[in-house]
Amino acid sequence: MKILFVTSEVYPLIKTGGLADVSYSLPKALKKLHQDIRLVLPAYASVLERLKTIETIATVEVTAYSKPVHILRSKLEGMPIYLIEATDYFQRPGHPYIHPQGHDWPDNAQRFATFCRAVIKLGQDPLNLNWQPDIVHCNDWQTGLIPALLSQQAQRPATLFTIHNLAYQGLFPYHQFYELQLPNELWSMHGLEFYGQMSFIKGGLYFADHMTTVSPSYAREIKTNEFAYGLEGLLKTRSPQLTGILNGIDTQVWNPKTDSYINKNYDEKRLHKKTNKQQLQQKMQLPVEPNTLLFAYIGRLVAQKGVDLILNSLEQLMAYPIQFVILGSGEAELEQQLTQAQQSYPQQMAIHLAYDEALSHQIEASADVFLMPSRYEPCGLNQLYSLRYGTIPIVRRTGGLMDTVVEATTRNIIQHKATGFLFDEANVMDFTHACLQAIDYYYHKPKIWRQLIRTAMQEDFSWQISAKEYLQLYQSIKK
Ligand code: ADP
Repeated sequence: MKILFVTSEVYPLIKTGGLADVSYSLPKALKKLHQDIRLVLPAYASVLERLKTIETIATVEVTAYSKPVHILRSKLEGMPIYLIEATDYFQRPGHPYIHPQGHDWPDNAQRFATFCRAVIKLGQDPLNLNWQPDIVHCNDWQTGLIPALLSQQAQRPATLFTIHNLAYQGLFPYHQFYELQLPNELWSMHGLEFYGQMSFIKGGLYFADHMTTVSPSYAREIKTNEFAYGLEGLLKTRSPQLTGILNGIDTQVWNPKTDSYINKNYDEKRLHKKTNKQQLQQKMQLPVEPNTLLFAYIGRLVAQKGVDLILNSLEQLMAYPIQFVILGSGEAELEQQLTQAQQSYPQQMAIHLAYDEALSHQIEASADVFLMPSRYEPCGLNQLYSLRYGTIPIVRRTGGLMDTVVEATTRNIIQHKATGFLFDEANVMDFTHACLQAIDYYYHKPKIWRQLIRTAMQEDFSWQISAKEYLQLYQSIKK
């Protein structure tokens, strides 16, 4: 099967979140299943710097009104990768979607419309590459126009659209639809229009042959008004074409036995987390106390992730002998509140407000508990990395979190199934209660704690099973 995997970020070239990890590890797993899969990505400045051999294979006109776009070809660890080079749109430093001042790049509609149009050209093979995809696999709103535009063609590849996060929809005012000179027929509630605005994600949700989300529970949740932001009607109607497939993790990149970022490698038999913890405490200027329970948070600092619950639980939790390490970047207000909290508890709390891949591995290898109090979570990867690193997750019962963490109930503990702690409501009381439970187990039930770690580390979240599910789906929609 020939698959074109379209994404706006891929690890290790450019990453803002889980999408980049999936765009790296899912194609790799499909390649192992002997599929002819190729990636296509915007040619951001940082990507061009990181790839070694790059050749220009074509120059295409995407619209009559815009500058021609170059299609480049390279390889990422043996995987063919195409890059869409539109210099005005992608040759800029910094974040792929957000301006340094914190707002979206004002030309995001033009940027990703150009990207989508160029991808369609690539799929049509006007370049005589002798390669036409059977499947175009699109991911998130940045690629949403592709299924919409392809739907207007008689002969076209099948399209799959994966929703990694329904909250990000690519909404733009009508005048941008007009300026982009998109086909008029697409301006309809049975198309890209969403309450008077243009919605890129609707292009995927309405027109793709099939849709997936990144966990079964999130697939159910987005058909309810609590999680769907007004898109529940469309998603309910298209329910037969919506499947939840759990994300996997790259078990080579995230392997405590071989991880080169961490100080002391380990496995479930020889657990060296305390040695790593000492190193981390030193590095983060916390008192070096290997026996003290260390809580960790890594992730984007946004309301979705429930960072406010962590902040508001500190007063109660800090009475216990515990430490916190927090790594993240995001909303200015949350960054400021975390800085204040760190100043209030300098002996117990360390923060690093940045994006730091190496430190994220070191934290996973050192911490005892990983906090993920997300308000919603399509899949979540950090709880999976945590399980693999024997860092017991505390998660809210939502989306992919509840599909992957097994609650430490008495029955689950007896059956050696438990791997973490869950709580129901996104409020401080429920969250604090789960943290207190973890503190109690860590200090007073060390045997059970050790068992939780062992069970967690033995879980298999590799891509093996999920990649096969994607393959079956591709086969079922192939034209
Ligand atoms: P989301 O995609 O919503 O951000 P996920 O849990 O699916 O959440 O994926 C987040 C990914 O980004 C993980 O690989 C996580 O380790 C990484 N990450 C997020 N913030 C940071 C950071 N500040 N430093 C290093 N890695 C980070």
